[in-house]
Amino acid sequence: MTLSFKLQHKDGNARAGIIHTAHGTIETPAFMPVGTYGAVKGIQPEELIKIGVNIILANTYHLMERPGKVIIEKSGGLRKFMGWQGPILTDSGGFQVMSLSKMSKVDEEGVTFKSHLDGSSLRLNPEISIKMQKSFDSTISMIFDECTPYPIDYELAKKSMRLSFRWAEKSKKYFDDRNGYGIFGIVQGSIYKDLREESIKELIQLNFDGLALGGLAVGEGHEIMVEVVKNSIEYFPLDKPRYLMGVGYPKDIIESVKLGIDMFDCVLPTRSGRTGKVFTKYGELNIKNAKYKKDFRPLDIKCKCAVCAKNVSRSYLHHLSNIGDMLASIYLTLHNINHYIELISDIRNSIINKNFDEVSEKRLKDYQKGDIDLEN
Ligand SMILES: [Zn+2]
Repeated sequence: MTLSFKLQHKDGNARAGIIHTAHGTIETPAFMPVGTYGAVKGIQPEELIKIGVNIILANTYHLMERPGKVIIEKSGGLRKFMGWQGPILTDSGGFQVMSLSKMSKVDEEGVTFKSHLDGSSLRLNPEISIKMQKSFDSTISMIFDECTPYPIDYELAKKSMRLSFRWAEKSKKYFDDRNGYGIFGIVQGSIYKDLREESIKELIQLNFDGLALGGLAVGEGHEIMVEVVKNSIEYFPLDKPRYLMGVGYPKDIIESVKLGIDMFDCVLPTRSGRTGKVFTKYGELNIKNAKYKKDFRPLDIKCKCAVCAKNVSRSYLHHLSNIGDMLASIYLTLHNINHYIELISDIRNSIINKNFDEVSEKRLKDYQKGDIDLEN
């Protein structure tokens, strides 16, 4: 039997569930930190476990370039290669082909594109992508799809969505059912309600282990993104996990859980950590800002992460960042991932306790406050 999902609690449309996989369980709603090349940059797997991370995401496109299929396969899969015991989800490469390679050529069977590293010609299609993900020993594989840019006109979005569906059929065909492993379909159709509806209804016929909303977080903005989720969610099956790809800010996550989304991934907590951006209960701050030079408080007084718990000060982090020490990136990334995991687990508990609206509204209000502590 492939992986299984159990819906445990509902509060309004918000859902708490559990996914049982060959590599452990995933409590939903879940946030997956991104480990593009098989590393959540700067953070050891043990630290991720301590924070409460259930699952991480890695990118097929990047891994097929470096270190390549053979090395990962010889290591016994990506989890063994990187020393991560839990489940992993790999994307299929479709999104990166669009976003990273300027020279991609799509045909009925797949995509030929130039490597963003050395310009060499590469090929991805459903068969290559799914077999690649199998060689990575990925717990959850994603179908190979065409991710459309934003904006895109209706006819092109329709044509692309239908091509992605034909690729979804092929992806499913090349995926070997294994105990506790799964494959997710990806809904396309840009911002067009009827196209999203058609895409979901077609994908349901293929009986995937979960369904994802793709083609979002590509520049459409928060309002449109929420609108697309709202317009699509009613067609999703109740008994499968629902994954919103590449989204997003804490606010996006809260509002999407409210609509019934179960899984998220986003580079924000990790990428921001490397550029000095910090997520706190009261909004974001940038540690590089001069006002933190003499601020001897932790990043977030209420945070229980390893960095805040030992009172590493904003002043010290500002200093580390100023001199370009890698410890700044490590500390900030640890804190940020902790913030996201704490947020998602807080939300999960509120669904179980049937006070999701109360908890999420307070969260959203607090984010608006800004760094209030500083004004004291
Ligand atoms: Zn912290």
